[in-house]
Amino acid sequence: MREQHLPGHRGLATFALLAATEVLVARTDIIVLGAGIVGSSVALHLVKRGLSVALVDRGGAGEATSYGNAGIIEGNTIFPPAFPSDWTTLLAIALKRSSLANYHLTFLPKIAPWLAAFRAYSQPEKLLETSQVMRPLFARAVAEHETLAAEAAAEKYFRRTGWLKLYRTDRTFAGTARERELAKELGINNAVLDGDGARMLEPSLAPVFRHAVHWTGAVSVSNPLAVTRAYAARFAALGGLSFVGDAGSLHRNGARWRVETASGPLDAGEVVVALGPWLRDVLDPLGIKLPFAVKRGYHRHFQPRGNAALARPVLDADNGYVLAPMEQGIRLTTGVEFAPRDAPPTPVQLKRLLPAAHELFPLGEPVEQQASGATTWLGARPCFVDSRPVIGRAPGQAGLWLACGHAHWGLTLGPATGRLLAELITGATPFCDPQPFAADRFLT
Ligand SMILES: Cc1cc2nc3c(=O)[nH]c(=O)nc-3n(C[C@H](O)[C@H](O)[C@H](O)COP(=O)(O)OP(=O)(O)OC[C@H]3O[C@@H](n4cnc5c(N)ncnc54)[C@H](O)[C@@H]3O)c2cc1C
Repeated sequence: MREQHLPGHRGLATFALLAATEVLVARTDIIVLGAGIVGSSVALHLVKRGLSVALVDRGGAGEATSYGNAGIIEGNTIFPPAFPSDWTTLLAIALKRSSLANYHLTFLPKIAPWLAAFRAYSQPEKLLETSQVMRPLFARAVAEHETLAAEAAAEKYFRRTGWLKLYRTDRTFAGTARERELAKELGINNAVLDGDGARMLEPSLAPVFRHAVHWTGAVSVSNPLAVTRAYAARFAALGGLSFVGDAGSLHRNGARWRVETASGPLDAGEVVVALGPWLRDVLDPLGIKLPFAVKRGYHRHFQPRGNAALARPVLDADNGYVLAPMEQGIRLTTGVEFAPRDAPPTPVQLKRLLPAAHELFPLGEPVEQQASGATTWLGARPCFVDSRPVIGRAPGQAGLWLACGHAHWGLTLGPATGRLLAELITGATPFCDPQPFAADRFLT
């Protein structure tokens, strides 16, 4: 067997170990599994620190969950989405009359323990704790993107226009009081607007809402796929190597880890699992059990009618969807769906919310009209029960690291995660306390 060390950008030594067979085994310092926004950002941060890094995916960078999101870099985030606490909302969801959430009935027994734990983490004191431990990550979200975007020539996709949350009723707006109070304490800028004030920012919106909050510090992108591709291209420009391969082939090979790729086996002392919704495909066989599930979500693109336009993403809070201006058109993204990750799409939420969306904004023709009839994109938000990601060592497996479970904020937190994990792996001082993101918080 022949073994070859892949170069890092500082030109690490190449060596060959010859054995009986002629199979070439590439050896690198670190393998990153998954080239979504999280894995690509981790790989880029590692290669910037002089390590020899291989990025392995079965497809192209950013083509899975990181393609279809609403494109919002929400450094302003305070509270994670919570399990509904009022019975009216819960009943509407249970009766499948709400566009906020959907579920597959047959999946409920399987997801029930996860939902019960998620509900426990939705108590006010737990939400407050999550908001506090997540703040250092969110606070760096925009700045870490800006650094990578400048290096990767991706700035053209970035809009510094904030994002707008709309409330159709006094009741839903009043529900945000605590969030706004905390924002004030933390110095997170926002402007509370009435309908007319919001329509001065976004003149194409119809006056169907009473209140709005403009989160001025948020940034959005016009093409999340292009942003991840740009970061992956920067990784390559710095000497990182990308491989097509199956993360499911990960196994121990002596003191190292091995992954099978289309170019042959790849060995490394350290491996980062950044597989988004596919995390369990690798962790389950290794016996690592974490309270992980996916919240599925859909999008569909529409042409704006006439001269209608949006300068920033807009959330219709009462109906749980976002309208985000993208290069492809206006991207309408839905709320969450609890269903098996790989079950066929059931985009009933889109159907339920389309009348509200048409009422709010002059949506024209759908952009994708394929002969197959497939017009909606389906993705899956990778989520732990406490809505916090795992960034750090995998429990009980030397050399295995995790960067996963970014839920509603994978785009937002990819670069900050990349920096934090690279600092942990290289033994540098981490920019924030990594303890709240350790996997072993679930093992006590
Ligand atoms: C409708 C919707 C709207 C959203 N809006 C926002 C938003 O506005 N802002 C925000 O911050 N976040 C948003 N999110 C969340 C965000 O998109 C995700 O958190 C993020 O994309 C997760 O990134 P990731 O890199 O962890 O996963 P992914 O992008 O899914 O990357 C995982 C990679 O692993 C690869 N992979 C999987 N299995 C294998 C295997 N066996 N072998 C090899 N490779 C494999 C996949 O091909 C993929 O490239 C939204 C999500 C949805 C669904």
